[in-house]
Amino acid sequence: MFNKVLIANRGEIALRVLRACKELGISTVAVHSTADADAMHVRLADESVCIGPPPARDSYLNIPSVLAACEITGADAVHPGYGFLSENARFADILAAHRIAFIGPSAEHIRIMGDKIEAKRTAARLGIPVVPGSEGAVDNDIEAMRIAKEIGFPVLVKAAAGGGGRGMKVAQTPDELPMAMSTARAEARSAFGDDQLYIEKYLGKPRHIEIQVLGDGRGDAVHLGERDCSLQRRHQKIWEEAPSPALNDEARGRIGAIVADAIAKLGYAGVGTVEFLYENGEFYFIEMNTRLQVEHPVTEMITGIDLVNEQLRVASGSPLSMSQDDISFNGHAVECRINAEDPATFTPSPGTIRYFHPPGGLGVRVDSAIYHGYNIPPHYDSLIGKLIVHGRNRVECMMRLRRALDEFVVDGVRSTVPLFRRLVDDVDIANGMYNIHWLEKYLSRSQDMTE
Ligand code: ADP
Repeated sequence: MFNKVLIANRGEIALRVLRACKELGISTVAVHSTADADAMHVRLADESVCIGPPPARDSYLNIPSVLAACEITGADAVHPGYGFLSENARFADILAAHRIAFIGPSAEHIRIMGDKIEAKRTAARLGIPVVPGSEGAVDNDIEAMRIAKEIGFPVLVKAAAGGGGRGMKVAQTPDELPMAMSTARAEARSAFGDDQLYIEKYLGKPRHIEIQVLGDGRGDAVHLGERDCSLQRRHQKIWEEAPSPALNDEARGRIGAIVADAIAKLGYAGVGTVEFLYENGEFYFIEMNTRLQVEHPVTEMITGIDLVNEQLRVASGSPLSMSQDDISFNGHAVECRINAEDPATFTPSPGTIRYFHPPGGLGVRVDSAIYHGYNIPPHYDSLIGKLIVHGRNRVECMMRLRRALDEFVVDGVRSTVPLFRRLVDDVDIANGMYNIHWLEKYLSRSQDMTE
């Protein structure tokens, strides 16, 4: 096992990783920007190194600074968390060249999955069902039209380098296709510096269902069931649950086995998430994330498996601590992503936390790095905490979630807690009847009512 792990991240995920390291007796190094000198991850780590000014590109994304912090502290491994350098293949290569372990998959696997065209091709080759669409990149409008007509409208134009829902445009009819192509291309070029596009069938009312996997890098892999992340605003997840209210054991077992088998064949190391859209009983692969996800706790709550502990084990060369038969799913879990944002307009609300009272009690977990008097800097994303609730079944989970949200107090900044209080009382949510468009419709209805 490692002696010292440097955590190349901030906020709640830095704490999450730190906790797993502490439980294994591994020393921890926090890195931080000047804006985060008072952050909780810095306070709780054994050592800390300031790696630059507030903008992420000058600190958390600055590879030479992170590497220097490793050298100074003698860290033998880096955990990248999510976001920042977590899916940066060059970073993984550079660490390898310096004989520092990257707690994640190989640079090659990060590269394949980071290019969505290549990812889709690889998934299909490994027997994973994919969304019908172009075989590879689509270079011009004539080819785009031919493919779109073949798969049938509506279609979705997507960026090969896409992420965060950017570079994605729907064309409902042939007339709309040239415009969708040029807008997506411009957006992809400015956001990712790569304007390769591909085309997919646009699914009308799917759910977003993703499978958590874990591989040892040597041909052994397991799946840890699914998470339903259909409640999204602007393609960003805000509420995730496991198991999905839409899957039965047969569907879960079927897709889980396909994915675990593919991950084993790939020789994938560590945790990963294979994302699907699910419509009319069919799964369609959209992408794979080669890192720990924000929503990983719901899987931990229903399996009792510590995913960061498993990442550390695999990265240090140990085999998986379980086989597929050892994994069972117990009860139901929901995660709410609490942001420092106005709950109606979603405008970020940085500032000083005047009072913070997180809920507690049986089945309640709060992953957060804020505290009384903490000043939320304006430079990073607005996630201030995750409320994760577990119950023996979905009904108990929802009742407990309602109770936990009632107890949740964040004063001094606006937060999205009130939005979740409303969602938990909604009849569609109670019945698990929602798809990826539900939340946007709900929010525009609430907007109309207040106007
Ligand atoms: P990103 O990497 O930008 O997040 P994804 O491919 O993961 O892009 O897609 C993000 C979201 O966009 C999905 O969760 C879903 O809501 C929507 N989406 C993606 N592909 C399709 C599709 N073929 N049809 C309908 N919606 C889609």
